Amino acid sequence: MSVREIATLGDPVLRERAVEVGAQELGSDEIQQLIDNLIETMRSAGGAGLAATQVSVPRRVAVIEVDDNPRYPYKPPISLTVIVNPTIEPLSEERLLINEGCLSVPNLRADLERFLDVRVRYLDRNGEPRELVARGLTAGTFQHEVDHLDGVLFLDRVSDPRTFSTWEQFERHHKAAFLARIAPYIRGAPE
Ligand code: ZN
Repeated sequence: MSVREIATLGDPVLRERAVEVGAQELGSDEIQQLIDNLIETMRSAGGAGLAATQVSVPRRVAVIEVDDNPRYPYKPPISLTVIVNPTIEPLSEERLLINEGCLSVPNLRADLERFLDVRVRYLDRNGEPRELVARGLTAGTFQHEVDHLDGVLFLDRVSDPRTFSTWEQFERHHKAAFLARIAPYIRGAPE
């Protein structure tokens, strides 16, 4: 396992559409090592998720994990999930305005709309087909990572550029209102 360098905004690899991983290929050392490196790099950077494109490998693999995350202390926990060739199906037209950041976009956050409820279909690292249903911030995290595999950054979905802020200014001026807005979608809150 090793920590990989994370590509940052402006690197063309972040704008590539990542290529599907074949069933045979998924078991290869190369792809299994990529998955291990993604996990280690995500944990080392304190991310909630990391897509292969972010470590300059344009393949459809991403990892997600939220566990007392210092970057996003309000996010409900997600146990380590490896998603290969994921697809997202919105379960309704309802959307949630989420404030997001990204390891590839240093020190910038903004508000954008995500589908509130989604189904995610993917292969796990052993090639088993899986699906899960996610809601709220968790649904947003999956949509953010799958976007990466299509060369889409959260910046592209920001409808009001006036919501851009540094992390420090978000903490100071916008966090309280954001937390109030998403309270119904956080663990323990009635939904
Ligand atoms: Zn990101």
